[in-house]
Amino acid sequence: MRVLIISDIHSNYAALEAVLAAAGPYDQLWNLGDTIGYGPCPNECVTAVRQFSTITIAGNHDLACINKVDLSDFNPEARTANIWNGKQLTPEHYAFLSVPPAIHPVDDRFLMVHGSPREPVWEYLLTRHQAVENFGYFSQQICFIGHSHVPLVFRLRPTGMCDGPSSPESGMTMPIQPEMRYFVNPGSVGQPRNQDPRAAFAILDTEAETIHFQRIEYDIAKTQRLMREAGLPEPLAMRLQYGM
Ligand code: ZN
Repeated sequence: MRVLIISDIHSNYAALEAVLAAAGPYDQLWNLGDTIGYGPCPNECVTAVRQFSTITIAGNHDLACINKVDLSDFNPEARTANIWNGKQLTPEHYAFLSVPPAIHPVDDRFLMVHGSPREPVWEYLLTRHQAVENFGYFSQQICFIGHSHVPLVFRLRPTGMCDGPSSPESGMTMPIQPEMRYFVNPGSVGQPRNQDPRAAFAILDTEAETIHFQRIEYDIAKTQRLMREAGLPEPLAMRLQYGM
């Protein structure tokens, strides 16, 4: 089975279209949340996710846009964009985003979570110390995470030693070793933050037993233009071209 793994689309439809075109054929699509917020195309992105994703979980921005978490937990620009995104949503899309939790066990091998197993909505899982603690909160071999917008991998050896975070380069294919457990963040589709503005995604191949990481260019100027037309905060448009 070939699974396209994406996260943090953030209403950036130009980036999502580019990822879907570049990913090639896939059997399933797992979406790790923050489908909306920040960007200019919430309805287009939810339409695509409803059509193409096998599983979609919620992120903190999705929940803020539909008033399920407190908007005061966000900085002023993110809050402004969340309010705008929430107002654009059609009733069907609003209802769709109201259903999923921020954590979803796919099966006894794979777990999907937006932030971390310990704190699915809010924790940014970025350090080895956090990874070690969070490996204790689930039993599956591989946990896919989003939220930080940074592509990374942590590996837990059978000895209890943890490696990482390692930063997978674009084009890298990582073999899944049966004795290891993993945290894998594919990076963000719609608002990359590791000084690389290209959209990020990953492909899990359960026959080859690999995870492939990929970055691709998309029409950043188009998303920026739509953001400016919508009156969204200028720093949110600017950051897209710097990948931060
Ligand atoms: Zn996000």
